[in-house]
Amino acid sequence: MDALTVSTSQHRISNLMAIDFERQQFFWSRVEREGDHLIWTGSQVPRGYGIITIDGEEVYAHRVAYCIANNIDLKNIEQFQIIRTCERNDCVEPKHLIPKPKRKAKP
Ligand SMILES: [Zn+2]
Repeated sequence: MDALTVSTSQHRISNLMAIDFERQQFFWSRVEREGDHLIWTGSQVPRGYGIITIDGEEVYAHRVAYCIANNIDLKNIEQFQIIRTCERNDCVEPKHLIPKPKRKAKP
């Protein structure tokens, strides 16, 4: 298993709060620079998006990258899609990620 498993016995279970240092370390250990891109080398879903498991929940790696880079937690981006501005589905370079509200505002 490639997934991050962290004991939750001493923590709030199923609470995706701050991405702590231990998880950040794990995250960056699964990333390799390739030119301008940071390529996720851990688990992937079929379309090539990176996946990381936190407290038993699968989360897209690029969402975690965005949170780490902006020092926020996953709850802060629940209402947002994190869109990639480059062509690589496996890229988690925070500079290539922008948030977009999930619901399109009607003009
Ligand atoms: Zn990229």
